[in-house]
Amino acid sequence: MTRAKFISNELDKMFPNPNCELNFRSPFELLVAVILSAQCTDKRVNLVTNELFKKYRTPQDFVDIPLEELEKLIHSCGFYHNKALNIKKMAKDVIGKFGGEVPKTLEELTSLSGVGRKTANVVIAEAFGGDAIAVDTHVLRTANRLGIVKSDDPFKVEKALMASFPKERWSTLHFQMVLFGRYKCKAQRPECKGCPFVTFCKEEKKNL
Ligand code: SF4
Repeated sequence: MTRAKFISNELDKMFPNPNCELNFRSPFELLVAVILSAQCTDKRVNLVTNELFKKYRTPQDFVDIPLEELEKLIHSCGFYHNKALNIKKMAKDVIGKFGGEVPKTLEELTSLSGVGRKTANVVIAEAFGGDAIAVDTHVLRTANRLGIVKSDDPFKVEKALMASFPKERWSTLHFQMVLFGRYKCKAQRPECKGCPFVTFCKEEKKNL
């Protein structure tokens, strides 16, 4: 069995039904939630969007909302000024460039203000069921520790993962690596005892 297959199998055992922990009801809401999630926990974002999406749901709602009002509502997510600006610009682009519908391709999504490759890939995988690997801090760290790649560059990590795993695995793998990094292979004090990858893990300070 290849190492990639072994990693796939073990992640399937650990996280059989992985998915995004952000709450949303439309691709547009997911875009807003992902923008809010930068440097913030999904739990906090869900608390904020639970209130926010009661009143504001569509791109037009976010174009119309005064900046100060939006800043107030998302304040606890941190970096609220930039996030509010980005959300309003992104909403304007969704209307201006795509008639109010969130586009489905990486190229189109990344043409929206404030939407980078990672955010676009999360939306493709989670909102549209496409094949994509979004590289966040957890995916980057665990891909390096698992020896799939040796790089701090998210784009290189994404390419290495795409080359190592079959396309139909990409989205699931992304969510499994996020959960593995968030709950087990944590940045500080990873839970290495009993980890199935300990024999080939590249992390020097294993927590055994
Ligand atoms: S052994 Fe520890 S650091 Fe290595 S992959 Fe497992 S949990 Fe992560």
